[in-house]
Amino acid sequence: MRPLLLGGARLLDGSVVDVTIKDGLVVDAGSHDAATWETGADVDVEDLDGYLLLPAPVEPHTHLDKALTGERVTPTYDGLTGAARTWQQQAVTVSRDDVLRRGRDTLRELLWSGATAVRTHVNRSCGEDPLLALRALVELRESVADVMSLQVVYLSSKASSPEELRSAVSAGADLLGGAPHTAADPAAAQAAVLVVAGQTGVDVDLHTDEELDPAARALAALVGQVLSSGFVGRVTASHCVSLGTQTPTERADTIAGMSSAGIGVVALPSTNLYLQGRALPGSSSPRGIAPLRELLDAGILVAGGADNIRDPFLPVGRPVRDGVAAGDRWSSHRRGGVRRGQRDGPSDHGAASGGAGGGLARRPPGDTSNEPDGRDRASTSRPPRHLRRTGRRAQHRAT
Ligand SMILES: [Zn+2]
Repeated sequence: MRPLLLGGARLLDGSVVDVTIKDGLVVDAGSHDAATWETGADVDVEDLDGYLLLPAPVEPHTHLDKALTGERVTPTYDGLTGAARTWQQQAVTVSRDDVLRRGRDTLRELLWSGATAVRTHVNRSCGEDPLLALRALVELRESVADVMSLQVVYLSSKASSPEELRSAVSAGADLLGGAPHTAADPAAAQAAVLVVAGQTGVDVDLHTDEELDPAARALAALVGQVLSSGFVGRVTASHCVSLGTQTPTERADTIAGMSSAGIGVVALPSTNLYLQGRALPGSSSPRGIAPLRELLDAGILVAGGADNIRDPFLPVGRPVRDGVAAGDRWSSHRRGGVRRGQRDGPSDHGAASGGAGGGLARRPPGDTSNEPDGRDRASTSRPPRHLRRTGRRAQHRAT
């Protein structure tokens, strides 16, 4: 395959460069020189004048087994508990083929928005085989491996035994998860997940304190459990809603512990804004979002995800990555923006937006640091969907 030269592309720092892609890898990102590429004979050239060129973004948290089921149910409009009940009422109808079809359709939407790495959680199935949906998504993961990386997190439930969790890993789960805040003893529930994760050698991504109650302390307990179990740097806490409702002192203590334990956070503003606080009157209910500014200031690795995509938990929306990144900004009161000649730090703009971070740079074959699984996904086999036309007005405003 001939190399592809992306000519005159604008990067986030405002510079205009020519990017050369060869055998699926970015091999050069040099200063723009139209005279060179306009006469080049041995490369395919794409003129990117007026386009912004971004690293492929990452979707760090979604639920492919639930996605696109919103039209099957009547919304209850009574928050997370009602949405979970609604999901369970129709979950028995979910088959392998159904999960595959909806999962593939959702991944296609994500790919078209530029995402080449996705982490999905998957529920325990309610039929004879509790791993049915997991097996379907593992099958889907293998079928899309040539264009994107898919990680599957098996969600432990109240009905799950340690043996079931071990079977999930054997069946292909990349990580173990759960929603311990729904258990009678959240700390014990997440400890059980950590035990099996330690036995099977996988990392953990938990739905943590997905509630407004400031007394919820699963996240604080998780800090101690991680520090004492050798899981430092291997645990992600998704949601962290109650953290935002606690006093500044309580919050600072927990965040300091999270930093020591290397716990990363995935904030999920869309679902949290939709579900949290529905029972409260008026429009001044708590925002229900992880406190991103304080987490980022503490050096916590933070990402933003779409979570639910047109299902009982969030019946509207699309998994478009730049939309999620924008949502992080307006919903979480994050500071700063991206202007010409200035960009946020890698953890602020890259991870917090679900982006791969790090920007475009020459990377020789073998240097695959941008992808969570170590694989580089620069693709020349299809139109570069992650290009966004900025237009003259946008460029002028950026200066
Ligand atoms: Zn979730």
